[in-house]
Amino acid sequence: MRLRPIRCNVLKKEKRMKEIKLNPELADRMGRIYEEMASRYEQVATQLQLSCDGCPDNCCDSYFQHHTFVEWGYLWLGFCQLPEAQQAGILERSRLYVTGCEQALERNERPQIMCPLNEHGRCVLYRHRLMVCRTHGVPATMQRPDGQRLNFPGCFHCQELVEQKFSQQPSAVPQTDRTDLLRKLAMLENDLMDGARRLYPRIKLTIAQMLIKGPPAVAIPHCERERSSQ
Ligand code: SF4
Ligand code: SF4
Repeated sequence: MRLRPIRCNVLKKEKRMKEIKLNPELADRMGRIYEEMASRYEQVATQLQLSCDGCPDNCCDSYFQHHTFVEWGYLWLGFCQLPEAQQAGILERSRLYVTGCEQALERNERPQIMCPLNEHGRCVLYRHRLMVCRTHGVPATMQRPDGQRLNFPGCFHCQELVEQKFSQQPSAVPQTDRTDLLRKLAMLENDLMDGARRLYPRIKLTIAQMLIKGPPAVAIPHCERERSSQ
């Protein structure tokens, strides 16, 4: 049974906003990009013998902001499948999360608050977790559109393992290349926005902020508003 999410009525009240929905084809493409990210992560983590199990840290309290409507929409699809009582608990934690982050940022501190989707140390939307949740731990590289290459060293635990195993051979450190998957993600984002992503605002939201807002939505352009009111 598919339960009705408790935030799905929000947009009906916001008549000037229109929901951005992932159709099954776009959701399938998003799922395949995510699976490939996770698979590449696993390959490198296996080579490094990196595991989150038993790690003294839990990266789900790291402060990350996210930038694509398509990831937001895919997360929302997963959220809508949760039982209503669980959704309510997540939204309550999301509100506390947002308040806690605002207070930390006012103190010029980087927020460190557990993600509202983490219950008892586990992600309740594991299949729908975002890109950074699937890539953060292992060393990675990517080439930007301007040709500049960026390198990421992985999490602190990973860096310890790299130091132990590869201090004599730094060039042999395994890493994932994110370039092609980020390109696919950008294409998917553009397709979701009918080929006009550049016309819509940039977003920079935590998971908690996304969930509180409900499904991804954009302001209806004036021309469409006038058409719909005729
Ligand atoms: S990503 Fe790294 S630091 Fe984070 S929980 Fe996993 S092993 Fe620990
Ligand atoms: S979405 Fe899941 S994996 Fe990502 S930070 Fe939240 S609880 Fe952790």
